[in-house]
Amino acid sequence: MAPVTLRQVQKRYGELTVIKGADIAIADGEFVVLVGPSGCGKSTLLRMIAGLEPISGGTVSIGGRVVNDVEPKDRDIAMVFQNYALYPHMTVATNMGFSLEHRGGSKAEIAERVRWAADILGLAPLLDRYPRQLSGGQRQRVAMGRAIVRSPQVFLFDEPLSNLDAQLRVQMRGEIKALHQRLGTTMIYVTHDQVEAMTMADRIVVLNKGNIEQIGAPLDLYDQPANRFVAGFIGSPA
Ligand code: ADP
Ligand code: MG
Repeated sequence: MAPVTLRQVQKRYGELTVIKGADIAIADGEFVVLVGPSGCGKSTLLRMIAGLEPISGGTVSIGGRVVNDVEPKDRDIAMVFQNYALYPHMTVATNMGFSLEHRGGSKAEIAERVRWAADILGLAPLLDRYPRQLSGGQRQRVAMGRAIVRSPQVFLFDEPLSNLDAQLRVQMRGEIKALHQRLGTTMIYVTHDQVEAMTMADRIVVLNKGNIEQIGAPLDLYDQPANRFVAGFIGSPA
């Protein structure tokens, strides 16, 4: 587990400032949802935490260490995307263990980690299957499995459920929350879906046009929105 702290984090693309000085302090083991309309800067912010996007100003700290100059692979984070491209020619087990192979673990150690993750995610009976033989929900679970085998300190999710149908989305929300409870890991979850934010978050960060409008627990945002934007966004049906 690790806290994640952003201080005055900015992102500029030439003249365009897409993140305008974000201050967020995320506690150990907290489940924080970044929510806001399309194009407001959610993915950009998450990618800066992951180290996939250089930051234009400010600092990002993970576990108390400033990581501005630390490569993504050395940040002890794992990211789950919406387009969780699995390797089609590899089995579930190989897909899940792949990221461990160039870390120098033995075959037996990797197999052990994969079994551990598969048990947590209910994938144990599917380890020898290929991605094309899986349902959408099962594939999303494999994508999470690839992330958890490494036991990262922090999980980052970027709209991981938006390709799934409504019923499955509700089920997977529950599974991700169960995973959070089981692992106790810090999780930062991006969505444009207010319902997802309200039902999953310990705290919500509301973003709009590169600005943080409000940070708070779901009910606090609902009861005491800081401004009209938050009131409209959180209050309006998805
Ligand atoms: P969200 O994930 O909330 O939909 P993004 O973080 O993807 O938003 O994008 C935020 C803003 O940054 C958008 O206006 C987008 O057009 C702009 N943007 C993202 N990536 C780039 C880039 N590589 N070059 C220029 N502008 C970009
Ligand atoms: Mg995005």
